[in-house]
Amino acid sequence: MGDTIFSRIIRREIPADIVHEDDDVLGFRDVSPQAPTHVLFIPKREIPTLNDLRPDDATLVGKLVMAATAYAKAQGLAENGYRCVINCNKDGGQTVYHIHLHLLAGRQMHWPPG
Ligand code: AMP
Repeated sequence: MGDTIFSRIIRREIPADIVHEDDDVLGFRDVSPQAPTHVLFIPKREIPTLNDLRPDDATLVGKLVMAATAYAKAQGLAENGYRCVINCNKDGGQTVYHIHLHLLAGRQMHWPPG
């Protein structure tokens, strides 16, 4: 598996603005925010893309989503709403090959995305 910049954040080799941590998931602010709130939730285990998930990773994916929704609720973002996105490979716009869920909030989102 590739060693990405997110692995280095997990190992605390480079700084990040960490807003959530549990046994399986780390959440930190995106360095190039696309909304007033833009947080990335990643599994601590390296999984490059959605295509690499195995059936027994279903719980882990659920934990990513639950970490994001709990954060959104705690930050008072739930009522207005938010967007959760996981990009996959080139056409999906993925640039870091360690699965991450984007939580975007604080402005009106548009559909379809660019
Ligand atoms: P994606 O295009 O879905 O792979 O998203 C990768 C995201 O990682 C982008 O939104 C980047 O701004 C973000 N990113 C890259 N390097 C860092 C970093 N060191 N700390 C926080 N976010 C980062």
